[in-house]
Amino acid sequence: MRTANAPAPEADPRIPFPHTNSPLACRTNPALFVHEHGQTSSKEDRDRIERARTACRGCPIAADCLKWALANPSLTPTGVWAATISRERTGLRRRLQQRHGPDWVGVVVQADVA
Ligand code: SF4
Repeated sequence: MRTANAPAPEADPRIPFPHTNSPLACRTNPALFVHEHGQTSSKEDRDRIERARTACRGCPIAADCLKWALANPSLTPTGVWAATISRERTGLRRRLQQRHGPDWVGVVVQADVA
């Protein structure tokens, strides 16, 4: 856990957060996207999270948002990002690491450039 004096984690500069002029549901309605790691969800929470996932699926920057969220675990430990919750992002990161090695972010960046 971060203490009050600890610096805020910085984003991995290799994958900047994608830009869009479209309104983003996670910004216009951030309460929809709240989900704590390990949270035992009520039906109300599950319904809300499903609405957040649906909003992400229609988001024009969802694919790049997912890359950013996966590359920045310290900035995305909770919440719904690109239709995923924390546990799902952890699983995706593990698979990326198994496939591409510990610097999977660098491999993904190189693949995007190529
Ligand atoms: S995909 Fe990312 S940017 Fe788009 S609404 Fe979901 S969390 Fe926000």
